[in-house]
Amino acid sequence: MKTKVRHVMGISGGKDSAALAIYMKDKYPQLDIEYYCCDTGKELEETYTLIRNLEVYLGRPIIRLEAASNSHEDPFDHFLKLYGGYLPSSTSRWCTRKLKLEPFEKWIGDDLVVSYVGIRGDEDREGYISKKPTVQSIFPFRKNIWSEDVIAKTLNNNSINFLAQQYAKQQLGDKLPRILELVHEPISESFTLNNKLQALLEMGAAAFNQVVFDYLATTKYPIANTPSFPLVENEDVLVRDDIFRILRESGVGVPQYYEKLPYEVDGKKGEYARSRSGCYFCFFQQKIEWIWLYEQHPEMFEKAMQYEKDGYTWMQEEKLEDIIKPERMHQIKSDQLLRDKRNKKKSPYLLDILDEVEDEGCASCFI
Ligand code: SF4
Repeated sequence: MKTKVRHVMGISGGKDSAALAIYMKDKYPQLDIEYYCCDTGKELEETYTLIRNLEVYLGRPIIRLEAASNSHEDPFDHFLKLYGGYLPSSTSRWCTRKLKLEPFEKWIGDDLVVSYVGIRGDEDREGYISKKPTVQSIFPFRKNIWSEDVIAKTLNNNSINFLAQQYAKQQLGDKLPRILELVHEPISESFTLNNKLQALLEMGAAAFNQVVFDYLATTKYPIANTPSFPLVENEDVLVRDDIFRILRESGVGVPQYYEKLPYEVDGKKGEYARSRSGCYFCFFQQKIEWIWLYEQHPEMFEKAMQYEKDGYTWMQEEKLEDIIKPERMHQIKSDQLLRDKRNKKKSPYLLDILDEVEDEGCASCFI
C-alpha cells in the first residue's frame, strides 16, 4: 500500500523561492503544496512584505515555523544566548541548523516529503538542504529536476539494463537507437556521470524524467509512493530574468532590497543592492552590502553592531564600527566600483557579482 506523501515548499523570503511558489501554483495546481517559512525574527521588513503578498497570490497561508517557539525572545536571540554570544559564521553555521533545518524537520516528522527547491537553471549548486532520507528534493527550474543522489543511483552502471528497458517502453521513434547507445555506455573517466546526464537530457528531458521516475518506483524514495508525478513532463528551464518576470507579472513584486540604488565616490557613480534575503546581519554579506545596510537601514546596522561584543564579530577581520569610518567606507565603495567594472564583462547583473562569494548557497535562507 502506498503511503501518503506531503508536498512542501520553503519560502525563504528570497526571489527564487517566491517565484517558484507562483510558478507551481500556476503550472501544477493539482499538487497540494504546503508552504512554510522559518522565521528567525531577524528578517528585513521587505521579506515579511513579500511573504504577505505571496499569501494573497497563493490564496493560502504560509506556515510560520519558529525554533524555540516557547521562548519570550526571537529565535535567533534565544539560541545566541544558549551559544554564549558566539555569533554564527560560514564555518560555524549554527543558525541555519537551529533556526531553519531543525524546525523544518520537526514539522515534517517522519512523513514522506517531496520538497520543491527554487535553484535556477542558470545556477550550478544543490544548496544546503535537509538530508533526511524521508525528504526528497525536486528542482523544477532546472532541466535536471532531480537531486545528485537520485542521479548517481539512477545512472549507476548497475542500472543500465533497467534504464534501457524503461526507455524502450516509451514512444521515442528514431531517437531511441541513439538513446540506447548512450544508456549502454558505462560511466567512466572519459564519460562521466555528468556527461551521461547531460547527453540523456539533451535527447529529451521528459523521457529521461519518466525513466528516473520508473527507477525511483523500485526504491524507498518518497516519490515511489506517488502513482504519478506531473513534473515528469517538465521541460522548462528558468533563469534569472524569468524569476523577475514572474514576480512582476504576478503582482507579488520584487523585494525592494534587490533594486539597485546609486552611490557616488570621487565623482564616480556606482550601484549597490542587497544580493539575498535572510537575516539583516547575515555574515554572508559582502562589505558593500554592509554599507548598503548602514545607509539604507541605519537602525538595523546599529542593532547588528550591538551583537558584536566579547570578541565576537560578524566578519573575521573587521568590526562593524570600523567599516563605517569615513575613510574605510570610501575605500570599500571605490574597491567595489573597480570590482563591478571588472565583473561586468562576465555578467551584466549586479546580483550575480554579489552572489559569487556565496557559491555554497543556502536553500533555507537565500533561495
Ligand atoms: S540568513 Fe544568514 S544569519 Fe540568518 S540563518 Fe541564514 S545563514 Fe544564518
